[in-house]
Parts: sequence; structure tokens; C-alpha cells
Amino acid sequence: MERPNKSIECTVSECSHHCQDCNYCSLDKILVGTHESNPTQEECTDCMSFALKA
Ligand code: SF4
Repeated sequence: MERPNKSIECTVSECSHHCQDCNYCSLDKILVGTHESNPTQEECTDCMSFALKA
């Protein structure tokens, strides 16, 4: 099964990279970006490695 990366905590269980049984990402690394031109708070940031679970 997917191996949790203890350096990347994540609660987005809808993502195919989420470990499901624990709140970690299974990827070796992720890319974080923003959808804002001038990000000012955490809601402005996004995990660009997100992939919707099939
Ligand atoms: S790719 Fe991003 S959203 Fe998906 S489990 Fe990893 S950290 Fe979470």
C-alpha cells in the first residue's frame, strides 16, 4: 500500500496520493502554489500535486 511520507502531513483524503488510514501524503515531494496574484493567508495556497481519487 501507499507509504506515508512523515514529512508531509495532509488531511485531504479526497486526493489519490493521501494515505487514507493516516493523515500523510504518500509522495516523496509535493509542489505548493497559489491561485492568487497576491496571497495573504493560508487559504490562498494550494497543493499543486493534488489528484482526484478515481
Ligand atoms: S498530493 Fe497534496 S493534496 Fe494530495 S495527499 Fe499529497 S499533500 Fe495532500
